Amino acid sequence: MEDCIFCKIVKGEIPPGLGEVYNDKNFLGFLDIKPLVKGHALIIPKKHFKTMLDMPSSLGVELLDAIKDVTLDLIKENKGEAVNIHVNNGESAGQVVHHLHVHIVPRKKGDGLMDKMV
Ligand code: AMP
Ligand code: ZN
Repeated sequence: MEDCIFCKIVKGEIPPGLGEVYNDKNFLGFLDIKPLVKGHALIIPKKHFKTMLDMPSSLGVELLDAIKDVTLDLIKENKGEAVNIHVNNGESAGQVVHHLHVHIVPRKKGDGLMDKMV
């Protein structure tokens, strides 16, 4: 996808947000350029899929491994004691970048974010 900003990150044409946090065969993780809180990370498949519904389920285990890996690192680095993990699937659900991405938002008690995101 030529105009996709996340495909450009995968291809190395632009830098990975505020820094790379994960890289394996099929997934890349980096810090969100406009973080809700410090440590807010995104995991994306290296291949362009618009939403979660477009990604083959066979990649699901690998995606979960990437999510767990990044989450455990964030907790280890004391960015939060808990996390919200969410995906905006489709424009009406708030998706702005149309390349599947999983948000990992570290949370601390009294951090001022909504207690629950949904
Ligand atoms: P969504 O509303 O789920 O589509 O969220 C898109 C997210 O991507 C937002 O949190 C943006 O701050 C983030 N974002 C957009 N461009 C970049 C970029 N170049 N590097 C890192 N994060 C980005
Ligand atoms: Zn893309």
